[in-house]
Amino acid sequence: MLDLVIIGAGPAGLAAAIYAVRAQLNAIILEKGAVGGQITTTGTVDNYPGLPGLQGLALAECLRKHAEQLGAVLHEGEVIRIEDCGAHKQILLANGECLTARSVIAATGAAPRPLGVPGEEELRGRGVSYCAMCDGAFFRGKRVCVIGGGDTAAEEAYLLSRQAREVLLIHRRDSLRAQKAQAVRLLNLGNVSMRWNTVVTEILGDRAGVSGVRLRETISGREELLPLDGVFVAVGMQPETHYLKPLGVVGSDGCVQAGEDCRTARPGLFAAGDLRCKLVRQVVTAAADGAAAVRAVQTYLEAAPQ
Ligand code: NAP
Repeated sequence: MLDLVIIGAGPAGLAAAIYAVRAQLNAIILEKGAVGGQITTTGTVDNYPGLPGLQGLALAECLRKHAEQLGAVLHEGEVIRIEDCGAHKQILLANGECLTARSVIAATGAAPRPLGVPGEEELRGRGVSYCAMCDGAFFRGKRVCVIGGGDTAAEEAYLLSRQAREVLLIHRRDSLRAQKAQAVRLLNLGNVSMRWNTVVTEILGDRAGVSGVRLRETISGREELLPLDGVFVAVGMQPETHYLKPLGVVGSDGCVQAGEDCRTARPGLFAAGDLRCKLVRQVVTAAADGAAAVRAVQTYLEAAPQ
């Protein structure tokens, strides 16, 4: 039986893997997609201490290499359910495999939240995107909008400004929630303009793709049709916690209730990174969670019956 299964190979999971190897735990780390998580679709990560200006992909690669050099075992697989059998957990994968471990760290992060307006679902992949890093090149020389006012929206608008002819940032309030440095960098760009106090009520298009959006100004109530080639939605993230719901550790807002030590209410189950209910979601806090979670796992394993 394994001591620990870490689910998710983003910064939280990879940091946990590094700490678990160093603690000599018999652990594996599972990932269903790209190793590195959200940072693989981020441009520059400019706020990870000691590594200014590093590209997200390069940071992901550094974390993976570090974990593997120490001997961490990465395994491809998507977890669909966890059975809590008390002293051990059974982790069921989509391919039918079942792993047994004394403890689990859930570190599956978060995925982009949809805007939830007509046209979004139908035009997803045909002009509606959630990742400028992945899809920006399709909009070279075109006119696009980004919806949202947080760090992701600011980052997406910045990345798009380097390829698109014109970028409109549409935000429902009159100021950005994004970090000041991000906001200032953005507002100084010649081909980025702001639409404050404005919401998108519909995304328009046909088989050929997106043709525009329907806007409503929140103060005047005035409506407008804006012709566009692409729509990038950046209205926040939703924690990837569906497989944890039957265990009763997921709150109404979708995140996992766990303290700074990453312990959930279920003995042997820990939550690290962006899926945990917390205020600051950054690479550095995700990595910190990975370290804290392994410390708590060690304490748990020492005390728990085999
Ligand atoms: P976020 O901080 O939750 O911001 C979401 C934005 O979308 C807010 O401006 C919000 O408006 C707006 N919004 C939400 N629902 C909306 C709706 N239905 N219609 C229109 N607008 C809507 O999400 P995020 O930007 O994805 O960031 C998530 C976390 O990752 C944050 O903790 C962030 O700091 C972190 N992050 C950090 C970096 C970095 O440090 N480089 C990069 C990316 C993300 P209001 O402002 O009015 O609420």
